Amino acid sequence: MSPLLQALWISLGVAQLGVPLAYLVVMRRIVSSRNYHVNLNLGQEPTVSILVPTYNEAGVIETKLENIVRSDYPREKVEIIVVDSGSSDNTSELAQNFFKLSGWKGMVVEEAERKGKPVGLNLGLKHSSGELVCISDAECQWDKEALRNAVKYLSDPSIGSVSGVHQPLKSPGVLSSEIEHSYRSVYRILRIAESKIHSTPLAEGEIQLFRRRELTGFDPTVGGDDTCAALCMIEKGLRAISAQDVVFFEPTPAAWQSRLRQKTRRGQHILQAFLRHKNLLFGRSPFSHFIFPMEFYLYAVNPLFFLPFLALTILILATSPLILYLVTAGTILVLLVPDLRSGAITYVTNNLTMLLAILQELRGEKQLRWKKIDENRPKVRIELPQLVQKRCADPGKHPFTLNPLSERG
Ligand code: GDP
Ligand code: MN
Repeated sequence: MSPLLQALWISLGVAQLGVPLAYLVVMRRIVSSRNYHVNLNLGQEPTVSILVPTYNEAGVIETKLENIVRSDYPREKVEIIVVDSGSSDNTSELAQNFFKLSGWKGMVVEEAERKGKPVGLNLGLKHSSGELVCISDAECQWDKEALRNAVKYLSDPSIGSVSGVHQPLKSPGVLSSEIEHSYRSVYRILRIAESKIHSTPLAEGEIQLFRRRELTGFDPTVGGDDTCAALCMIEKGLRAISAQDVVFFEPTPAAWQSRLRQKTRRGQHILQAFLRHKNLLFGRSPFSHFIFPMEFYLYAVNPLFFLPFLALTILILATSPLILYLVTAGTILVLLVPDLRSGAITYVTNNLTMLLAILQELRGEKQLRWKKIDENRPKVRIELPQLVQKRCADPGKHPFTLNPLSERG
């Protein structure tokens, strides 16, 4: 093995593994050592318009609306707008019936043709009258306190977007669910730490709140409406955060194929949003100096090194018994230590799905209208876990402990 190849292997290794690992280590420390640095004005209860975009969601829309109205937020302050885009099932009738029977303030806005989720959201926005706007996908559910907690952060005028953290509904023993759990535990650390520093570029359409007057609309040419809107707020000089006490639940598709399809599409949408806002790489906040370049690297650059690094590693293993020994020992160690295992799983899945996402984007398939994942819309109602949340005297500082369930590995 030539020294040149060895040097290349080491450089690729540092870029591929060293940089993400170092970032994760730093971010882990920040999660526990910092607070959100927010100036909350508690006690305010602004009006909120909740937009639920739907395309053929008859199987879940009633559960969704029931879940929203169970939120711990004054009923008279909430307006629900279901934006249905040409569903061929009875989603809109079910939603209309729900509003009639429950007496909750709500409306169904119908689009004759499906033009993509951002177009639907823009239509909903036109009909909204709340001081705040909240978007939420049809098949996810919220923790009872999610809405109130999210609203609380917007009482700080420097914050422009508040999203939450995903609590996967576990299917025990299902490998894709275990992997999702690992992936999400790493993902959550990054989102919370970045939010505590300034902002996180990634937001979740399962719950995201904005001030109505600051939200100009959703870009119809970009798939990642949530992430794109968060980046828009950062461009306006505001912060976009994911708060650890804003929790939502979503099942993980058990089948590999569905999971891969969903992850690749979501990755591609993130890429589209990042590229649309690439000028943020040259801004002057800590977000532009540190967080965004790093996330850009993790999502758009690092995956390109994955296969070359793998190929070179195999080549080197075949020619050097010492390195073979070291790498085998290292791999066993990683598999045995839960935290390292989570990191490794996240590393592999993220790189593979992002590689596919980049290829798909290069092929020009934008995926602005996609096939929904039926397994994420279970026929039977799932009991939501109770979150164990400890309040602190200072709500700005570690306002809640994370659900112990979510902190496993
Ligand atoms: P995933 O969570 O990334 O797998 O995406 P989903 O398939 O769950 O879609 C997110 C939300 O957008 C769901 O509530 C969908 O019903 C809704 N949605 C998807 N496409 C459209 C569309 O073209 N128009 C509208 N109004 N909603 C859509
Ligand atoms: Mn979804």
